[in-house]
Formats: sequence, C-alpha cells, structure tokens
Amino acid sequence: MLDATVIIVGGGPAGSSCAWKLQENGIECLILDKQKFPRTKLCAGWITPEVIEDLKMDIHDYPYSLTKFNRFHIHLPHKEMTLNVRQYAIRRYEFDNWLIRRAGIKVVTHDVREIRKDGDEYVIDDRYRCHYLVGAGGTYCPVYRSFYKYSNPRPQKSLVTTLEEEFPYDYQDVDCHLWFLQHKLPGYSWYVPKTDGYLNVGIGGFLYKLKSNNDTIVKQWRLFIDELKRLSLVTDHHFHERGYNYYIQHPTDIVQNDRLFLIGDSAGLATKDMGEGIGPAIRSGILAANAIISGKSLSLRSVKKYSFPKYPTLLKLLLAYLFKVKK
Ligand SMILES: Cc1cc2nc3c(=O)[nH]c(=O)nc-3n(C[C@H](O)[C@H](O)[C@H](O)COP(=O)(O)OP(=O)(O)OC[C@H]3O[C@@H](n4cnc5c(N)ncnc54)[C@H](O)[C@@H]3O)c2cc1C
Repeated sequence: MLDATVIIVGGGPAGSSCAWKLQENGIECLILDKQKFPRTKLCAGWITPEVIEDLKMDIHDYPYSLTKFNRFHIHLPHKEMTLNVRQYAIRRYEFDNWLIRRAGIKVVTHDVREIRKDGDEYVIDDRYRCHYLVGAGGTYCPVYRSFYKYSNPRPQKSLVTTLEEEFPYDYQDVDCHLWFLQHKLPGYSWYVPKTDGYLNVGIGGFLYKLKSNNDTIVKQWRLFIDELKRLSLVTDHHFHERGYNYYIQHPTDIVQNDRLFLIGDSAGLATKDMGEGIGPAIRSGILAANAIISGKSLSLRSVKKYSFPKYPTLLKLLLAYLFKVKK
C-alpha cells in the first residue's frame, strides 16, 4: 500500500494546480492519472489573462506554443465583426504536461476504479491510501461517481456536447474565429490557429437543446465543416473529429465533504456563457489546496460564472459591435 497525505485523482489543470500549491507549502501529495503524460485532451486551449495570473506564469518563459490574440473574428447570421481582445491559446498536449512537471510531484499512471473510506482515510483500489482525497478526474471522475453522485447531481440541462480536431495545418488566417447562432446551434463553433502550425476547430452546444430541436452535434459538425471550406479557412483536410461531454456551472455546489474535495470539470465548473473550463479548473485547484493547507472550508465563490461577466454572450457581442467594432 502506498500512503500519501493527499491523493489527487486526475492530473489535468485542476489536479496539477492543486498539487502545485500543496507542494509549494510542503504538503506531500500524489497524482493518479489513467493516462501517461503528455496526453491528448480535447480542448480548444483558449486561456484568459486570469489563468496566466493564477498560475503566476511568465509567458516569455513558457517553453511551448503560446498564441496571443488581439482580436476575435465573430460570425453572426448575416453579420460579421471584429472584437478587440487580449486572450491566449495553448495546446493542451503541451500545457498539461508542463503544468504537471512544474508541480514537481509524484505522478502515477493508474486508472482509479474503486474508492472506499477506511476509518479516517481513503483507500483506492486497495493500493493507495490517503488522508485527503481530491477529485479532479473531469466529467467521468471516479471520486464524483463514488461519493458525490447523489449529493451533487448534475442537471442534464448543463451538459454540453462537443466535437473537435486539432491537427497540423498550413493555415493562412492567423485570427481566431467564432461562430454564434448558426443553423440554430445552441452553442458556438471555433477556429483557433496555434503558433506552431497546429489548428484547432470545433463545435459545442447544449445536448438537451439539440435533442429538442431534433438535431445532433454530428449534423451541426457537417454544416460547420462546409462553412470552413466555403470561407477557405480549411480546404484540404480529411477530418477525424472526436467528441467529449462536460458540464457547465449549475446551482448545486457541494464540493467538500470532510476531507474529500471536488474540483474542475468533476464539479462542473465551466463558465455558463462560453463553457470555458481551464480557468475555473485552475482556480478551484488552488482554492482546494488552500483549504487543505489552512484547514478552512473550500469555497468556490471566486470561481467565475461567466467568461464575459454581467452580460450573456450575445448581449456582450452586440454591445461590442455597437461600440468598438472594426469592420
Ligand atoms: C472540445 C472542447 C473544447 C474546450 N475548449 C476550451 C477552451 O478553449 N478553453 C477553456 O477554458 N476550456 C475549454 N474546454 C473545457 C476544458 O477542457 C475543461 O473544462 C478542463 O479541461 C477541465 O480541467 P480538469 O482538470 O477539471 O479536467 P481534465 O482536463 O478533463 O482532466 C482530468 C484528468 O483526469 C484523468 N482521469 C479521468 N478518469 C480517471 C480515472 N478513473 N483514474 C485516473 N485518472 C482519471 C484524465 O485522464 C485527465 O487527465 C473545452 C472542452 C472541450 C470538450
């Protein structure tokens, strides 16, 4: 049996940020992840300035691809506009590996299946034992499944379904493009070029709305690919898209039970307007570490609910259109 003070299940941005903070404060921890790093994670890799601040990242020292966007090209039905922004993109294959190495802690490749409470401790697959257990395993987190499924149910109305592909591509347009309200998609689509010659294109939307429209994400994906071709953004590529589902923030937020914590996608923390989950995952990981260090309760109040606070996406876009659009 391997003993650790804290075991974190999942080494994505939530788990590795939690480990980073614990390690900085001299608290011994271990990450168990079913995949060996570096690993592929389906994600457009858009990160905000808050992420860079939370991670105390010096962008000049970041050793991999980090793309800076000064504008987003927005496509609305019958209307196009340019939104001035200061945003970034990374490749999750590189970023997650960098985060986990930077945390400087022990990472074991292990697919967690069974977790039980044994007195004051948690025992994982009869091989690992800990005093604090942190669930950071994403949508299908076994900590959520074992301990929070009933106390923290995830509403089906919060479930987002996606399809995407990231591939090497000799793209010509270096801007990030976003499409809203196309073909009644209850979500949005994206084109995110990365500095090292990779391109990420994808589409996401609420599953229950797609179903009630008698629509599917696959049908929407085909329409999106046609649009990419029509605009000559991607012309000569045979797509191998893949899908993943995750939850945006919803009202029930029981994320701590004694010495058991839930962070990132396993707690369903992505923003309500844009489904941005990297920032909330990192912030919640840091907050969970602080709760363990201080012995105080975990509060996720400072995890943002909206990527564009105060305004629902469309209103924000329309305001931007009226006040600072460059045609
Ligand atoms: C297509 C798509 C595009 C997205 N684009 C963006 C974007 O541009 N910007 C943004 O901010 N957010 C985006 N998101 C959301 C973002 O990817 C997630 O919110 C974020 O990855 C959550 O981080 P996490 O650490 O909680 O979980 P994850 O990154 O999912 O990490 C969970 C880890 O747990 C491990 N794990 C799972 N089960 C087990 C197990 N049984 N045992 C051991 N380990 C296990 C996994 O291998 C994984 O490494 C996107 C999501 C999708 C699907």
